[in-house]
Amino acid sequence: MEGKKGGLTPGLYLVATPIGNARDITLRTLDILRGADVLAAEDTRSLRRLLEIHGVPLGERPLVAYHDHNGAKARPRLLGALEAGLSVAYASEAGTPMISDPGFDLMRAAQEAGYPATSAPGPSAVVTALTLAGLPTDRFLFAGFLPNASGARKRALDELRGVPATLVYYESPKRLGAMLRDAAETLGGDRPAAVCRELTKKFEEVQRGTLNELSQIYTETQARGEIVVLIGKGDSETVSETDIDSAVRKALETMSVRDAADLVSAQLGVKRRPVYQMAMKLAGEQGDD
Ligand code: SAM
Repeated sequence: MEGKKGGLTPGLYLVATPIGNARDITLRTLDILRGADVLAAEDTRSLRRLLEIHGVPLGERPLVAYHDHNGAKARPRLLGALEAGLSVAYASEAGTPMISDPGFDLMRAAQEAGYPATSAPGPSAVVTALTLAGLPTDRFLFAGFLPNASGARKRALDELRGVPATLVYYESPKRLGAMLRDAAETLGGDRPAAVCRELTKKFEEVQRGTLNELSQIYTETQARGEIVVLIGKGDSETVSETDIDSAVRKALETMSVRDAADLVSAQLGVKRRPVYQMAMKLAGEQGDD
């Protein structure tokens, strides 16, 4: 959308900002921050600091706070600017807007009202962690933050137990030990995992190990800084026979042996053949009753 005589065409620009190292910012993002008529930020202080570091003058331009707690109030003002034919750049506190950060309602409202919108991509902790964790990246599932309470956290972990993909979670240093213990208990202690800490910063660190090993490390030592936890995909051995048995029984209540085998093997991430055989056997037993 940008480019007309060096200025920006009207519309909403979602810009990604650094997750630690201030130099991780694209030339295009800097152009947008320099050229937008209105700047909006989840944290206006962070954006001001970033502008200073990169020598981008704010000048007389408005810098509007837009975050989870004032979205309903701030949105009309930003939409008003778009209606007036202005360009609006939005940055969340760090990384990519909308990735466990605000911006979704603003983007949707702008699109629904028919204003042009674009994204200036850049850093995000999820992708940065994937590049360093040493776990497969061909398929991954980003699940954001887990619930704080252990029961709800275990249930949320359990929902993704059979997903054949690397799981990626954002986590706070305070909860890391408890989260890893719950993950080991729910998903199996042998699953490979990685804890990526302080990415792109001075004390960047990646710890790899099984969930049991990592949960021991972070139960003994309180972690610091910002953290991404990655969990390698489960293999069929981590799903117990009992789990498969009860899933197959439940599926057979409403579907054929073939469909039950398809469903359960996909749900639990296990090979279809043994599930099919079990389904045949259970269907036979049920038929005998
Ligand atoms: N929008 C951001 C993004 O694109 O990654 C994420 C915002 S979310 C509120 C903040 C969480 O992201 C942190 O609690 C941490 O889990 C993760 N995170 C952000 N920066 C990080 C870094 N430098 N190293 C490790 N994790 C980071």
